[in-house]
Amino acid sequence: MAQPDRSLWLKGPGNICKCKPSTKEFHPWRLVLLGPPGVGKGTQAAMLSEKLGACHLSTGDIFRMAKTISPDQRSKALQEAITYMDKGLLVPDTIVIALVKERSDCLKCECGFILDGFPRTIEQAQALQSFLDELNVQLDGVVNYQMDIEKIIARLSGRRVCINCKSVYHIVTMPTKVEGICDKCGGQLVLRDDDKPEAIRVRMETYNRETAPLIDFYKNSGLLLNVDANGTPQEVLERTLRGLQMLKA
Ligand code: AMP
Repeated sequence: MAQPDRSLWLKGPGNICKCKPSTKEFHPWRLVLLGPPGVGKGTQAAMLSEKLGACHLSTGDIFRMAKTISPDQRSKALQEAITYMDKGLLVPDTIVIALVKERSDCLKCECGFILDGFPRTIEQAQALQSFLDELNVQLDGVVNYQMDIEKIIARLSGRRVCINCKSVYHIVTMPTKVEGICDKCGGQLVLRDDDKPEAIRVRMETYNRETAPLIDFYKNSGLLLNVDANGTPQEVLERTLRGLQMLKA
């Protein structure tokens, strides 16, 4: 199944997505992905999106997309968000929640959604819950990817992202056919500013302080699915899909 169009999510209000469910029997999956930075959430979100036909909604992608336009064309909120992101800091809740709110049509999309990188704080999780309640939409699962911290650091420093289509690779575990060039669009691959060593350290501390408490937040909802993130992306995907089927049953 092709990945759905994400115009509204990436470019904001005023943009219309062309996303349509492929069949009448289509079941929209509505998932939140959790896990420390570098655990492979983005890769899994893209693979799940392709498999399940649901839109991959990453707040990090909104900010990276904003970085590709000239500074005088960016909104004040996005400009501020970028300065936090480049230091490896969380963007303030008020900015992130406002950006998601103006994209809340994505949460009632017929194709479903896979939220990657949002929520990242208890305040964001509460905001998400109130948006979903307003829209009368229920989550199907909260997938929590788990991995040792040393492995995560090795992963992040080898990660490369296409400046054009945002595809994610790894110099060891998921290399491109031609070094430094995206397999999908021929774009140049770069090390993200926030994957540089100092930013990684800050992001790990922030994760432990702000995001790890979300595991407890979702624990009693009956939606939490812990998934071992070790192994190839395909193995982790299959593990996730098996877990989701069990959760659904
Ligand atoms: P990600 O691609 O999800 O790792 O996000 C990259 C960066 O964007 C993070 O390190 C934060 O600076 C910022 N960011 C993305 N999503 C959020 C969020 N939900 N709350 C605060 N900051 C975020």
